[in-house]
Amino acid sequence: MSKIIASAAIRGAKVIYKEAEGFLNKTIKEKGEACEVKFPETAFYFPFAYALLGEEVKNLSDAKKVLDFSKTLLHEEPSDKIWLPYLGDTLDSGVAALLCEEIIMALRYLYNQEPQKDCNGFFSDTILRTLGIQLVDGRMPGFAAILGAAPDNKTAVYIVRELQKRSIMTFVGSNVNGRSIIDQLLEEKVEMGWDTYIVPYGRDTISGIYPLNWAIRGALTFGGHKKGEALKNLMYCKNRVFAFGMVLGELDDIKYATGAGAINMGFPIIADTNVPEIRPSGICTYEHVIRELDHKKIVPAAIELRGIKLKISEIPIPVSYSPAFEGERVRREQMFVQFGGKYSDAFEYVKMVDAEKIEDGKIEVIGPEIDDIKEGGATPLGVVVEVSGRKMQKDFEPILERQIHSFLNEAMGIFHMGQRDMCWIRVSKDAKNKGLKLKHFGVILHARIHDVFSAIADKVQVTIYTKQEDVKRISEDIQKVYKERDARVAGMTDESVDLFWTCTLCQSFAPNHVCIVKPERIGLCGAYNWLDAKASYELNPTGPNQPVKKGECLDPVKGEWAGVNEIVKQKSNHTLERFCGYSIIDSPETSCGCFECVVAILPELNGFMIVNREYTGITPAGMTFSTLAGTIGGGQQTPGFMGIGRLYIVSKKFISAEGGIKRIVWMTKELKESLTDKLKDRCKELGDPDFINKIADETIATTTEELLPYLEKIGHPALTMEAVM
Ligand code: SF4
Ligand code: ZN
Repeated sequence: MSKIIASAAIRGAKVIYKEAEGFLNKTIKEKGEACEVKFPETAFYFPFAYALLGEEVKNLSDAKKVLDFSKTLLHEEPSDKIWLPYLGDTLDSGVAALLCEEIIMALRYLYNQEPQKDCNGFFSDTILRTLGIQLVDGRMPGFAAILGAAPDNKTAVYIVRELQKRSIMTFVGSNVNGRSIIDQLLEEKVEMGWDTYIVPYGRDTISGIYPLNWAIRGALTFGGHKKGEALKNLMYCKNRVFAFGMVLGELDDIKYATGAGAINMGFPIIADTNVPEIRPSGICTYEHVIRELDHKKIVPAAIELRGIKLKISEIPIPVSYSPAFEGERVRREQMFVQFGGKYSDAFEYVKMVDAEKIEDGKIEVIGPEIDDIKEGGATPLGVVVEVSGRKMQKDFEPILERQIHSFLNEAMGIFHMGQRDMCWIRVSKDAKNKGLKLKHFGVILHARIHDVFSAIADKVQVTIYTKQEDVKRISEDIQKVYKERDARVAGMTDESVDLFWTCTLCQSFAPNHVCIVKPERIGLCGAYNWLDAKASYELNPTGPNQPVKKGECLDPVKGEWAGVNEIVKQKSNHTLERFCGYSIIDSPETSCGCFECVVAILPELNGFMIVNREYTGITPAGMTFSTLAGTIGGGQQTPGFMGIGRLYIVSKKFISAEGGIKRIVWMTKELKESLTDKLKDRCKELGDPDFINKIADETIATTTEELLPYLEKIGHPALTMEAVM
């Protein structure tokens, strides 16, 4: 173990401590010890203080306690005479650095100095949950935090692209002599954000605390560990969060101290400069600190160092392919050609056919290829994917078809939106110059369908049409197919089927949670409807979606079945006895953490409100979405409160035991707008076409006091309905 590192980390921790101390004292002087201090949208206070010390920091005097504790972790630099090759003091310094950095950043929030320009700032709990899902389903194999700046912009872009290609979420920030990788990427117009897996945290090293205090919350959320369980929380990070730090350019004491903090969590450090290495393993799985001076090798070396397992499906196309490119847009000035949208006719269609009718892997482009198309224009496009397989069913057509969106989007330089004959696709100039052709759309779809749907697809053939007359003709023919499909799903009721489906995918972080997916009640994440769950079972018979025989109906109004209760008991590890599918008061279904919306009771109004995840303001329940989510999540039954998928709101079975949508007194504007047509239809069915206008939103009221007079004025039905509780 290198003495240079130990000395630098110990010195760095002292500098960070001094900064925290000075800042905190100044703030206390200005605002008083009782002044509230917090990070935005988290239920974990100061995450490190909470996870490691069990402290719930709510005000400046609580922060002072944490500061005082961190002081006890500061040590003397190793002397020249007695030097023990022991990591202890370095690790202590690392923890002190983390605790103090958290204090500094929270104080900056207090003074509105965060987030920094073009940066994300503190990572909210919502993001933690969404990313958690990607972690557990394997879409995201690991995380990188880059500190500093690459020697030049091209190298910066090269490194993040290498990480993106491997679907590694990359946090970028800090600087070297004032130059930050964030600005290198901005100058090169690299698109940054959660969708593209490149997230700027801040331009100084102290803000490097964000990815770290995000990771420690993973231990609390997904690992189920408690506050103050320091070792368990750190071990969870080591064993389950596949993160590493990459330091580009010269290191200073602050970086060494922060790096020492990361090593406590089992996150190793790789540097592109001549740093002393810490090779023997101990805290980290492999080496703690290594150097790799060759930028071409630095990403593979880091992956090996952290032991990240990659699942790469090699697809023979001339551009990179990874889920990290799914969120990437192709802007007009970057675009070579586009299809569909409002610019030309386009459609995509997956069709089940008999095996002898197609040839696996055959890809045909009928009409002009990309090379024959004029730059900047729009061209008609029809994508027909024919699939055969012994287990293929007509019901799976729309499920496969819906995946075309992600499959094409995941190629770098292809942008895809929408579906069916409403799709809109762009190909970038860059991709075109690299040799991407329309035939590669077929290559991608063939490879990915085999990859993801191997259980049902034996043969896949793709035909791409680019002549207007073909696109128009086929598009007209398939209108009736689209109509039939819609009628089938829309016409399905809970009564018309014998089977429901379980979904236990979220048990990886909410161990007793189970969703019961019914034709009229979508899974609460909004991603699994009855047909999806059915298809998923066919694809993977031992997977998270299992059939549930409804059995005897115990209560048709509340939606209680003997068969469902039995399965719920078994799948919830005997923590739950009953599920009433249509009630929010009596044994409602549980909420894991990834619900699209929360329904909450407003007892004084005899009704319910609904808030969606994207809404950050306060609601009439007196809480924000994230506070509500924190209270009801984790797989428990909370009568009066429930996480749901958006589409359940417009189902006839929406809390029908309590009177259905007529109980809704408030929902966010955005939610209402996104469901307008369907809500209108429901209101008509209820014989009150005007009801949609009786539901208030945040522009009318955000407290029950404001809401009541409004509801009285418009004569909202909830006020005169039977008492809800
Ligand atoms: Fe999780 Fe329920 Fe969605 Fe399944 S349906 S992924 S259990 S929220
Ligand atoms: Zn969930």
